[in-house]
Amino acid sequence: MSENIEKNKCLIIGSGPAGYTAAIYAGRADLKPIVYQGLQPGGQLTITTEVDNFPGYPEGVKGPEMMEDLKKQSERFGTDVRFGIITRVDFSGKPLKAWADDGKEIRADAVIIATGASAKWLGLESEKKFMGQGVSGCATCDGFFYRGQDVAIVGGGDTAAEEATYLAKLCRKVYMIHRRDELRASKAMQHKVRNTPNIEMLWSHVPVEVLGDFKGVNGLRVKNVKTGEERDLPVTGFFVAIGHQPNSDIFRGQLDIHENGYIVTIPGSTRTSVEGVFAAGDVQDHYYRQAVTAAGTGCMAAIEAERYLSSEK
Ligand code: NDP
Repeated sequence: MSENIEKNKCLIIGSGPAGYTAAIYAGRADLKPIVYQGLQPGGQLTITTEVDNFPGYPEGVKGPEMMEDLKKQSERFGTDVRFGIITRVDFSGKPLKAWADDGKEIRADAVIIATGASAKWLGLESEKKFMGQGVSGCATCDGFFYRGQDVAIVGGGDTAAEEATYLAKLCRKVYMIHRRDELRASKAMQHKVRNTPNIEMLWSHVPVEVLGDFKGVNGLRVKNVKTGEERDLPVTGFFVAIGHQPNSDIFRGQLDIHENGYIVTIPGSTRTSVEGVFAAGDVQDHYYRQAVTAAGTGCMAAIEAERYLSSEK
């Protein structure tokens, strides 16, 4: 076998709470899993601040810290965690095949997909133009650069609410723009937003253009969707927090995938439409999308993979 071809029992694609939990269970079951971490090692929690709702942390925990702990825990049980991306798969026969950007071809008896979801963008030309020059998809990564300045954030979910309150600690003023007149965020987060004096809510508004020059963003044009009236907000930073897209592109044509991009699993399990392939976490869950449910389905996937491999024997 060429040195670029590796054979193993269990390949895990993705390194959020689902991927690492699957690795902990698969490692303890002696499956010697390989984890390819993907584009964002540690997943979405590495770009959040405090995680207050993961059981076992009475004082909360920093997202990146929790993911580092999960990684170490998976390595303690023999997981081979690799920095790299799976770029292509072929699930048409056995063994299941996957190709990584390090040139390796992995031939696995079972595959657990835990590739999560990524931030969505509005799709404005000007949003693209000023990406990284005032437009950002991650307040906790980039908020620091806007200390003492005025910024805007779009979205009405928990991410937007969490990021708005985070930015409010650093910035002079935060405009929070939401297309409806009611937030989707949890009641606890709504309460936080309401009680932060330097957040100004712009209800029933949408961003229509990011304004700027060669130095970067210097304003945001917003429109009131009820009256059609437009106004320019004097901001130097614009944060987009409008939800996520499941990272399932490389599995198209290989597995059943819902219209909205989420991988189809058999209810009550993590089994996909291909035997030996399991999906856990946000890539198959458009409803709960929580770290703890991702971890739970990661555990399910590893147990199902182990039972599948034993039955194959
Ligand atoms: P959500 O899908 O919950 O919210 C997306 C928000 O963006 C909605 O308010 C939506 O508006 C708005 N939106 C979507 N598309 C557009 C658009 N094109 N233009 C303008 N606005 C748009 O995503 P989140 O990322 O906020 O949250 C995802 C999941 O993660 C949720 O289950 C959430 O509870 C969870 N989460 C939990 C956290 C925690 O507990 N600490 C922190 C962050 C997220 P509309 O409401 O009108 O649809």
